[in-house]
Amino acid sequence: MSDSRSVLAAALEFHGHRCWASVTGVRAGLAALRTLGVHRAGGSQLHAIIETGEEHGAMCFGDGVQYSTGCTFGKNNINKNPLGKLAVTVVDKASDLAVRVSYKPTLQKQIAASAFMQQRAAGVSPDKIPEADQLELVDLMWNAPEDDILSVGEVFSQPRNWLPEVMGFTPCQQCGELVAQAYVRLVGERRMCIPCSGYDR
Ligand SMILES: [Zn+2]
Ligand SMILES: [Zn+2]
Repeated sequence: MSDSRSVLAAALEFHGHRCWASVTGVRAGLAALRTLGVHRAGGSQLHAIIETGEEHGAMCFGDGVQYSTGCTFGKNNINKNPLGKLAVTVVDKASDLAVRVSYKPTLQKQIAASAFMQQRAAGVSPDKIPEADQLELVDLMWNAPEDDILSVGEVFSQPRNWLPEVMGFTPCQQCGELVAQAYVRLVGERRMCIPCSGYDR
């Protein structure tokens, strides 16, 4: 547990403030790894699909998932299925096995009544909320029994043809910037980046 507490501390540092939704994301990610019997991805061995959407509360869930699972937008081993839900499916590419973990709103009344959420409702940015108020909800979510806050689904099979990474880059012959191979466009004989080529995609 002390090990995962250090994951929590690092995740919150990465996230930029301390909030219940990012903690929930960390716990959801750790629960998925444990259920699949896998470790945090250092490469692209896992893939996560998060269900948070755009411009709504608690999107911070996604940062907790990214940090705890190692499925990150930089590695492109995460994508969004934007349903406006606090849920994630993690797939182990080696076995094609997957599990979906979703947030159970048992503590929602307590969260809504907290000093943290009242300040959020009044428009205070989360990083400007006093640390003690931030930590109140962090501790609430971190210390809650897993079964109270998460629903961990059955492991299921999710076979998929994963696309290989294409490694090469080519300099655009117009602006000189490097462009990943699949994004190079041909204009006459010249190889260009999309903006220089004039193509939409
Ligand atoms: Zn947050
Ligand atoms: Zn260019």
